Amino acid sequence: SNRDDIILNVDKLSKRFGGFAAVTGVDLKVRRGSIHALIGPNGAGKTTCFNLLTKFLQPTSGTIVFDGRDITRLPAAEIAQLGLVRSFQISAVFPRLTVLENVRVAIQRRQRGDSFDFWRSERSLHAYDLEAWERLSEVGLSDYAHVPAGELPYGRKRALEIATTLALDPQMLLLDEPMAGMAHEDVGRISALIRSLSAGRTILMVEHNLSVVAELSDRITVLARGQVLAEGSYDEVSKDPRVIDAYIGV
Ligand code: ADP
Repeated sequence: SNRDDIILNVDKLSKRFGGFAAVTGVDLKVRRGSIHALIGPNGAGKTTCFNLLTKFLQPTSGTIVFDGRDITRLPAAEIAQLGLVRSFQISAVFPRLTVLENVRVAIQRRQRGDSFDFWRSERSLHAYDLEAWERLSEVGLSDYAHVPAGELPYGRKRALEIATTLALDPQMLLLDEPMAGMAHEDVGRISALIRSLSAGRTILMVEHNLSVVAELSDRITVLARGQVLAEGSYDEVSKDPRVIDAYIGV
């Protein structure tokens, strides 16, 4: 059925840096509409995998199929257009622009390719504004619309990055350590945000905060030394002796 189908199918993905195998034969299947976490000790290859999926790096071998299309050889911009988007990919946040203006610029960039100008007709600006307000409300930033982005507290800045990412209308979001640097009081709010983002979208995240991983993830893939060590629910992988060893052995 559609509910169970695989939106991202990674087969035997490998990346070598010179003689060093950073990622070796990684298989990963992400179900449409799920929240899937990629975890593992430092140096496991998580960041390299994300870079391969979004083509910041070219794979040495293996295939990546997204939404039924082989994207292994496609450039980064085309992959984003197909709806597979990494959280910080477009979100250079402009500190002097307001929160609302930042989101509007991101929407304009989507509509106009990579360039944008502020001098469009009143009519199209109005349409951009409507969509920008929607994105802000989706990430809980409506009250900050007129605040310069540079003055946002850290946790709200991450929410703004996500709002500008949503401006690309992604089917699937890759979130890079969304809890990194978060104050304790932000963690619950960003968790709730991720959960709400997953309605109608698929999320793959790298995250070190294991209680957040446990709470949010439908499925978890554990990497160690560039290979898949275990895959399953949080309960399953957290009881796996190989996973415990990999975390303790670092
Ligand atoms: P993680 O994100 O799980 O901490 P990384 O993907 O960053 O792991 O790194 C996996 C391994 O690949 C590490 O041993 C790292 O030193 C190595 N590595 C990552 N990028 C490069 C690179 N550009 N050149 C050489 N080695 C790299």
